[in-house]
Amino acid sequence: MSGVRWQPREEGSGPGYLQAVAPGGTYAAYHAYNSHYYKCDDCEFGEVRCETAKALWAAYTQARDGPT
Ligand SMILES: [Zn+2]
Repeated sequence: MSGVRWQPREEGSGPGYLQAVAPGGTYAAYHAYNSHYYKCDDCEFGEVRCETAKALWAAYTQARDGPT
């Protein structure tokens, strides 16, 4: 499967963040993770990762390392 699938994030009380699920390419996955910081108030680069960022990072490492 390729392309980023966006899912509405229901939990929490902040603005309706979208959650990205496993982009097909490593670069796309990293870009999704990286660009998340520019729109997320819950993340501080290199210090804090919200649940969305954790999911994006996991998607990136999976794309980079391949399926386990
Ligand atoms: Zn975040």
